[in-house]
Amino acid sequence: MRGHPRVLIAGGGLGGLAAALALLRMGCDVEVCEQAPELKEVGAGVQLAPNGTRVLYALGVGEELKALSCEAEGKEIRLWNSGETWKLHDLGKASIERYGYPYFTVYRPDLLGVLERAVRREKPAAIRLGSKCVGFHQNEEKTTLQLDGGATVEGDVLIGADGVHSRIRQGLFGADQPQFTGVIAWRGIVPMEKLPRHMVRRVGTNWVGPGGHVVHYPLRAGRVMNFVGALERTDWQVESWSARGTPEELGADFAGWHDDVQALIRNIPAPYKWALMVRPPMRRWSVGRVSLLGDACHSMVPFLAQGANMAIEDGYILARALTEGGDDIPARLARYENARRERTRRAVEGSANNIQRFHNKALADPVQAREYVDREWAGQPVAERYEWLFRYDVTTVEI
Ligand SMILES: Cc1cc2nc3c(=O)[nH]c(=O)nc-3n(C[C@H](O)[C@H](O)[C@H](O)COP(=O)(O)OP(=O)(O)OC[C@H]3O[C@@H](n4cnc5c(N)ncnc54)[C@H](O)[C@@H]3O)c2cc1C
Repeated sequence: MRGHPRVLIAGGGLGGLAAALALLRMGCDVEVCEQAPELKEVGAGVQLAPNGTRVLYALGVGEELKALSCEAEGKEIRLWNSGETWKLHDLGKASIERYGYPYFTVYRPDLLGVLERAVRREKPAAIRLGSKCVGFHQNEEKTTLQLDGGATVEGDVLIGADGVHSRIRQGLFGADQPQFTGVIAWRGIVPMEKLPRHMVRRVGTNWVGPGGHVVHYPLRAGRVMNFVGALERTDWQVESWSARGTPEELGADFAGWHDDVQALIRNIPAPYKWALMVRPPMRRWSVGRVSLLGDACHSMVPFLAQGANMAIEDGYILARALTEGGDDIPARLARYENARRERTRRAVEGSANNIQRFHNKALADPVQAREYVDREWAGQPVAERYEWLFRYDVTTVEI
């Protein structure tokens, strides 16, 4: 190998494409093999915190994304039945003043489209669609990725960015053993014009209640509202983003919740539901010339809104590790992994801790609930839970 390595990426999701863009911009050759015949994301929202938008601005796509996003003015906590409201963060201008970068809420297909266009601008043929990865080999000189149908692709490095059910992770470490959290989640998109006027705001709202919580925030310049509702329930354990539930079942799960929650639920004609699993943080995820990123190595429940942010950060740090330093690929991958292990472990654990925090039994009683929210969402505890996430700078952090 002379100069920067040629990198194969299995999976063209948010993490795989962010990595491809970072690697191309730092001078590597890249080939992304994505199983889907076209690049698509589920029609749902994703929150990009300043640690994630900082990466996207560094990759030159910040302004294009801004035009498609909502810039949340802030976030609030509301009590499941009374609707009583507490401020969680000021965002908007405050995010830029404090962290240097905005907090965006984005429609996932819009984000994927921005990344895809940017990758293709760097290398038009970088993304190979309809290419399912089924296995790989490596030796001291190269890696070979095997595709469904028998074709193979060669490179200096292979990165598994193939999500929570990663084939590449399985090839490295065997089958994993996810554990059901006892929580299922619902998702849907609501046209903004269907909601009462007082709900049409550029604010992210987190309703907390005993045994469940609801998050909603605006997308697509405020034309739609993204809904996620999580509930402790053990009769559904399918980890899939495309399983449908019924409006009646969703309504029954949140019976007794505030009218604003009911207004959202009434306007989701075809909700989706999925079971939330946890996997213990991996102690390592690189072997020789093969490594992992994003959900393939540190999937997390979505209650810190950081899974995609972490996958995007991974891509930038991986590109730095592969382009700064010597020719020893396994050593460079070890540097990448070392730079990411502790931070992603904290995010996996922090998001799991939020299940108890958001669903606490104290929230059943009005007096206890108020004391509980005052304590859990006071300035200092919130700063401890989020500052370390939002302030991380992929461009300058020592690796
Ligand atoms: C309800 C919900 C809300 C969320 N909200 C947020 C949020 O607000 N903020 C946030 O930061 N994160 C959020 N997340 C987490 C975030 O969605 C994930 O962490 C992120 O999508 C991970 O990206 P990835 O690229 O690692 O994996 P994925 O997005 O799963 O992409 C994997 C890609 O690999 C492809 N693939 C899989 N297998 C193969 C194969 N064998 N061969 C080739 N291609 C393959 C897939 O088709 C896919 O394109 C949320 C998650 C959920 C479930």
